Amino acid sequence: MPLLDRLESRFGRFAIPGLVQIVAGLKLLTFAIFVMQSAEARDRYLDFLSLDGPRILSGQVWRLVTYLFIPTTLNVLFAVLSAMMLMWLGRGLEQAWGAFRLNLFVRDRLHMAKVMKKRTQFKEASPTAAPFFHQCSLCQKTEVDDPSLYFRINDAGDEICSECRKST
Ligand SMILES: [Zn+2]
Repeated sequence: MPLLDRLESRFGRFAIPGLVQIVAGLKLLTFAIFVMQSAEARDRYLDFLSLDGPRILSGQVWRLVTYLFIPTTLNVLFAVLSAMMLMWLGRGLEQAWGAFRLNLFVRDRLHMAKVMKKRTQFKEASPTAAPFFHQCSLCQKTEVDDPSLYFRINDAGDEICSECRKST
């Protein structure tokens, strides 16, 4: 099984479809709350969301995620546009990743087919299949197997090598 398939079968259930869209949506929601608050409440809100190492270590682990949603602008139009852009990008990336996986899969199979074809060709070209003119009907040796052999046709019309003729 290709590595990617192994990874997907192991970690696929953890994949969140539309993760980027969810992040964009939460970011927009955070922005909406942010703009509706008073300046004083905003400071507390920001303080609650921010990435703060010591406080994360003391158990406020939500900060690892929530700092992503801190608004970077107070312009409503810009915030909505950037959220839409993020959603659009997320969808595009997911589609691209699907296509990328498909590409990897197809390329993998094509490569396997090529290798198998090459192996078959190699087998066909192996010494036993090399061109020969004579083959002993008793030991199946040809002049390619043993260039010192010479062949005669016996009374029955079979080709017999010099070795086999000696022993009979
Ligand atoms: Zn022979």
